[in-house]
Amino acid sequence: MTPEGALAPGSTIGVLGGGQLGRMIALAAARLGLKVHIYAHQADEPACQVAAAATVADWTDEAALARFADAVDVVTYEFENVPAATAAFLAARKPVRPGPLALEKTQDRLVEKDFLRGLGIDTAPYAAVDDAGALARHIGQIGRPAILKTRRFGYDGKGQFALRDGSDVGAAFRALGGAPCILEGFVDFEREVSVVAARAPDGSFAAYDVCENEHENHILATTRAPAHMAPETAAEAMDITHRILDALDYVGVIAVEMFLVAHEIEGRRREKIVVNEIAPRVHNSGHWTIDGAETSQFEQHVRAICGWPLGSPKRRGRVEMRNLIGDDAHRWPQLAAEAGAYVHLYGKAEARAGRKMGHVTRVTRD
Ligand code: AMP
Repeated sequence: MTPEGALAPGSTIGVLGGGQLGRMIALAAARLGLKVHIYAHQADEPACQVAAAATVADWTDEAALARFADAVDVVTYEFENVPAATAAFLAARKPVRPGPLALEKTQDRLVEKDFLRGLGIDTAPYAAVDDAGALARHIGQIGRPAILKTRRFGYDGKGQFALRDGSDVGAAFRALGGAPCILEGFVDFEREVSVVAARAPDGSFAAYDVCENEHENHILATTRAPAHMAPETAAEAMDITHRILDALDYVGVIAVEMFLVAHEIEGRRREKIVVNEIAPRVHNSGHWTIDGAETSQFEQHVRAICGWPLGSPKRRGRVEMRNLIGDDAHRWPQLAAEAGAYVHLYGKAEARAGRKMGHVTRVTRD
């Protein structure tokens, strides 16, 4: 018997976005007998290569969106900058999971930080900056170093400008094109960690162990699970994530990126969590779960949005995931020959610098 409200095998999941995240969602869905229909801008995108169907159109093409909605049973996204109007158009026709509230609270860094603070969750100090005058005023309060970020459309360090001693605030604002910005105080973190977790329509919750992330040139390079941190701090990171998911009445997989801040106070180590940002989707820091956990983040997302029971997030050992960026992908023959290396390649034709081409995961016994 199908659980109440669940989509049966043979149903179709519509995915907005055609990148590698959509590709890995489609592969996981296929294993469960579900079909995926991708909505992408180009026919050769990574997800289109493995999906049952694809619509190639832009976000504002209402005729294409209506046909797509007719062809699918539930809509999800692998890209959080889906325009609000596109999500609303689809939500009037089919369930969109996670719901539009998740997009509203995470597309704009200022709205996101206000939302987090409203839940009593620690963030970097911040201020809205709409012009160079506001920047000059707030830099005095927040102090340097600080980071000026565009409120919208930033990723992999794009749309950011570090303000150190002596840097010119006017130039910082101009460098970001005069777009509405947020000024953030610099968090002196020990490491960056994230929690990848899922919530189902009935409110059930499952989280993977906290993992730690190293970036190179602002792009995620390596994720290790579990993260080095005190068990109480890991529990706090889980609790923060759970509160965020409940507040958004969230359905699907989310990633919460956090800073682990550590101090010595009277000879004792104290740790705390400061949330950096929320990704309302499957996330690069969860790729380790494909080979390193009992249920991958992609399967978990499919289970959640289809109303299936959530799978076990248990880790299979100590896990390290490395991204293959640009030319790294040319090492595939050596990686393919390495025992115990799980190689994933995304089907991208051109290995441009900075482009995520694939990843490799290694699992060792705990
Ligand atoms: P974001 O796009 O906000 O994830 O920022 C990209 C990277 O910049 C983060 O992963 C951090 O390494 C760094 N970063 C961003 N915001 C801050 C901050 N307020 N303090 C310190 N480092 C930051």
